[in-house]
Amino acid sequence: MSAQRERIVVMKFGGTSVEDAVAMERTAKIVRTRRDKGLDAVVVVSAMAKVTDQLLAAAAAAGKGDRDGALAITSRLRIRHVDTAAQLLEQDRFGKLQTVINAEFDQLDDLLRGIAAVGELTPRSTDLVVSFGERLSSRIVAEGFAQRGLNGIHVDARQVIITDAHYGKAVPQEDLIEERLIENVLPLLEQRMTPVMGGFIGASTSNITTTLGRGGSDFSAALVGGGLHAGAIEIWTDVNGIMTTDPRIVPDALRVKTISFEEAAELAYFGAKVLHPATILPAVKKNIPVWVLNSRNAENEGTKIMAVAPRCASPFKSIAAKKHLTIVDIVASRMLMSHGYLKAVFDVFDKYKTIIDMVSTSEVSISVSVDTNEHLPAIADELSKIADVKYESNKALICMVGEKIRGHRGIAGRVFTAVQHVNLRMISQGASEINMSFMIEEDDVEEAIRSLHKEFFADADPTVFDVEGRAVSKVVAK
Ligand code: ADP
Ligand code: ASP
Ligand code: MG
Repeated sequence: MSAQRERIVVMKFGGTSVEDAVAMERTAKIVRTRRDKGLDAVVVVSAMAKVTDQLLAAAAAAGKGDRDGALAITSRLRIRHVDTAAQLLEQDRFGKLQTVINAEFDQLDDLLRGIAAVGELTPRSTDLVVSFGERLSSRIVAEGFAQRGLNGIHVDARQVIITDAHYGKAVPQEDLIEERLIENVLPLLEQRMTPVMGGFIGASTSNITTTLGRGGSDFSAALVGGGLHAGAIEIWTDVNGIMTTDPRIVPDALRVKTISFEEAAELAYFGAKVLHPATILPAVKKNIPVWVLNSRNAENEGTKIMAVAPRCASPFKSIAAKKHLTIVDIVASRMLMSHGYLKAVFDVFDKYKTIIDMVSTSEVSISVSVDTNEHLPAIADELSKIADVKYESNKALICMVGEKIRGHRGIAGRVFTAVQHVNLRMISQGASEINMSFMIEEDDVEEAIRSLHKEFFADADPTVFDVEGRAVSKVVAK
């Protein structure tokens, strides 16, 4: 059985990779290359680019009672989906799918009318509204694959990705998912079909639609790969792989050829949007390699994420930034912190389910950073019994990731010289010893990343970074 499972490849295509009929056509070509190699592809797709944002805007409008505003958004989305299907499919197939698309949009519009009438938007109904993005894209892609000889078949992700009922960020139930995959997906592979399902969405055990959190399609792909004990997971996106930093900030960022699970997880957690932070976990448990690849440049080798990355002469692999953070300064009202003080402070954050990204302490004060302001007034109120509390928002965390930072001498000095012109707030080197992070003003992020990139990647190790790719992209740009 496991030999056969080795042949399974889970291919996830992000929003830009299915943004229109041309992009969907490209995904069909990519899937064909895998089938031609004798692999069994399971395809997971995101909503078409920007659709999730627009559905959230429609839900928010309806929640404020603005029914017409909400329906204006869905009417544009309806046209976009129908037009895409029309371009992708021949007449007969299009006719049938158009009926399905229209029925889905009718259901969505009814839902929004209901929300607008009540004037209240719950997390549960938000999840139901946004689920339409992936439900629609996956149907269109499946039909496109069926037409192109790939035996595409749609699988409703809600039959497979079973979660708890934590709307907006539901927790997957991996045992149940594995059972559902064996029941609903494996038999299709045995018939040489290409199952296509939406990422990001799932259903609770009582069959209520849930979502896994923004960017969650990567997570879905890893859950499917993990549950099927697949041979590989491929995350197809709009860049050549995991880069030395976000190429939108540094256009000549380099592709990282290989990176460890641990480094990739750290990068994702600290803001590199290219992967959802939870993606790596199901893959790590089963030791399944994950590839990040470019659907617009399918020939490129991409990045391979694996248990142990090869030796690298450069101290860092990549630089990430997480914006919209708040620093909370907690100064003990009694001069010195007593035994149990830290616990008392952290218990308050825990009570309000507010995750702390970074901590620094001195004899009398604790500074922590958090990525949501939602419960801060309540937290500050509660902490004021034992401390003076101040908080400042618009902060950002810069996180530099690389194994064996410790083995390299003088790294901290080089980091701080590179960013000497920006005001550093909190500094930490994670216990895992694979990240070095510091907090700065949000407005300084681009500047700091450019300086650090120049300092650490001008002379990058060619065995790990695609240094030639930099030369090629420069020639092309000229
Ligand atoms: P998708 O829709 O395919 O999931 P995302 O927009 O979620 O794509 O992620 C891809 C984007 O992540 C890239 O376009 C890039 O701007 C951004 N990004 C941020 N950090 C990195 C990094 N270190 N390497 C590559 N891309 C990054
Ligand atoms: N469509 C969802 C989002 O935009 C999930 C994803 O694309 O990964 O967040
Ligand atoms: Mg993404």
